[in-house]
Amino acid sequence: MSRRRSALLRMVCLVLIIGACCRMTPVFAASDQEDTTITKWKMKWVGESEEQGSVPSELDPKWFLVSPTDPIPVRPEGVKGAWIQFHVPAVTGQTEVVHFPRVYAMNLEVYLDGHSVLQLTRHSYYTRNSFSVPIALSDSNKTLSMWIEPSPQLHQLGLAKPAKIMSVNENQHNLIRETALDFSISGGLAILGLASIVAGLIQGRQHREIWIYLGVFLLCSSAVMAINTYELYVASTSYYKMVVFDISLLSGLFALLAFYETTLGSGKFNTIRTAKRFQLVYLAIVSPLSVLNLFFESELSKIYYPLSTKILALVMIIHFSLMILNAFFIARKGRMEAIVFSVGFVIFAMVGAGEMIGFSFFKEFDYQPHLWKWGLFLFSVSLMIIVGMKVGENRRQLVKYSHELEMFNTELQRSEKMDIISELAASVAHEVRNPLQVTRGFLQLLDGKYSSPTDTTYVKLALNELDRASGIITDFLTFAKPGAEDVVPLNLANEFEQVENILQPLAHMQGGRLEISIPTDLHVLGNPSKFKQAIVNIVKNSIEAFLEDGLVEISARSNGEYVAISVKDNGEGMELAEISRLGEPYFSNKSKGTGLGLMVTFRIIEAMKGTIQFKSQKGKGTEAIIRLPVAPKLASVPE
Ligand code: ADP
Ligand code: MG
Repeated sequence: MSRRRSALLRMVCLVLIIGACCRMTPVFAASDQEDTTITKWKMKWVGESEEQGSVPSELDPKWFLVSPTDPIPVRPEGVKGAWIQFHVPAVTGQTEVVHFPRVYAMNLEVYLDGHSVLQLTRHSYYTRNSFSVPIALSDSNKTLSMWIEPSPQLHQLGLAKPAKIMSVNENQHNLIRETALDFSISGGLAILGLASIVAGLIQGRQHREIWIYLGVFLLCSSAVMAINTYELYVASTSYYKMVVFDISLLSGLFALLAFYETTLGSGKFNTIRTAKRFQLVYLAIVSPLSVLNLFFESELSKIYYPLSTKILALVMIIHFSLMILNAFFIARKGRMEAIVFSVGFVIFAMVGAGEMIGFSFFKEFDYQPHLWKWGLFLFSVSLMIIVGMKVGENRRQLVKYSHELEMFNTELQRSEKMDIISELAASVAHEVRNPLQVTRGFLQLLDGKYSSPTDTTYVKLALNELDRASGIITDFLTFAKPGAEDVVPLNLANEFEQVENILQPLAHMQGGRLEISIPTDLHVLGNPSKFKQAIVNIVKNSIEAFLEDGLVEISARSNGEYVAISVKDNGEGMELAEISRLGEPYFSNKSKGTGLGLMVTFRIIEAMKGTIQFKSQKGKGTEAIIRLPVAPKLASVPE
């Protein structure tokens, strides 16, 4: 949960930083010179049948006055063009321009005192012109006339914004200000998109799809944005860009749905998958149509325009509603990816919707929507975060799996080894024990029948060695039969008292001592001799690890379900690598060690359904913690 929260926090920070960047739109120092806005101009319609003629005289009776507060003129029926005329104000600087921010017209030509100075001719439908006419000192007070021809797509014809006189510098600054930001967003997205696609191509199969879908979506978003950039729209006279725009929009939508499906699933009732398939069909129909429309516009426009505008808008609304509804649904279950998607999308949708509302409400202020690009950018960032999260999660899974696999492998090896040993042990020990016991019996029969005292010593030595051999065999047999039978309730305090009796002398011999404090009311189930053997093995190791002034502290406590017995020494301790080998057969660091002690101990504790855990620090000491299930309460527990 806390990891989730910190991820959310990180994302919020990112959004804030990007938001802050948005506000830092480059603002170029305005020119010290005030702009001069043309506040009035004359206009005159020219009918189909009339001659366009040369620049009309100022005294022509058909002129009518237009000011910036008037609505943009709508051309009357049967008009083939119009003239616009005004006086250039006194020019003060050397290099100035008359800037026309927006002229609704297709083709146009500008004259200064009757001399043509600029001509713009389009070969396909075109509506919004933006251009500047350079003027010099000598052009002061000249008459500027402009011939404009209407675009068939637009009923309005004329200046949508008043012309301005400004310095060339300012003109350039404005141009950069209007475009730099737009191009940097779309350029950034294009680079990210390409990078994602490349990343997808070099990825393993697992992540390929998600990277490529993301890349395609980013590239398409970038294209849609770039084409919407005012300057690109103005600069390119070709209609091909609309083909690119439509295909990018449709493919981007498809890539988004596919991305959604791979990261968040196919949605309730498979809605996302269905939407994706539908979009693919839509793309396959509209893309060729948009190309064909270039050549057969008159025949196709009736089908193509609705398909690429009104119907598409409806389709987009449905797709987006499906995605956001599903995301909310998944986000409610706490899936982080869905939360990120929802946040990114809601930002995008709110910015977009806010701007649409602003756009339609303040039409007369000629507001140009542009914030939606930042919305789209933030949304793209949220998609990238989702990819990052997905990759991170997969990596974590992989690490977890490999860790589990490794543990499983070691466990398997261990248990295989154990099985072999226990089988060997059982058979060999059994076979050897019988002849050993017979030999011991015969040796005892000879007791008292020797002539020399040295014979007595030899027989004693022989008996001792036979007992040692039998001890080792007992270890092996215990391993094979760890005493899961003959189980009785054991009082821990009693058992440890006996252990103390056996081992306290050994501890003293090694220059140390045992300190045992066990509550008298703790009971576990087990075979008494096996249990003692297990504990003796552990405590003996502690004693053998004594440095100087050795101490073994043995204590126990219970939580009602388990008893935890701690055997803690201040001996030489172990390295991590040694700890991991404890219980392995023949693992011993002692010259006379067998490396069987802990193996047997583990086996016995395991048979008692308990666990052993070792904590150790080289040079400081070792603590063995044995956990055993508490014996069920009995009326007659032997004290
Ligand atoms: P052995 O005692 O015959 O060597 P064990 O199985 O009893 O065999 O112990 C294996 C090894 O584990 C020991 O040789 C010793 O190196 C290490 N060991 C076990 N317990 C301790 C301890 N309390 N302190 C330091 N080393 C220990
Ligand atoms: Mg030992």
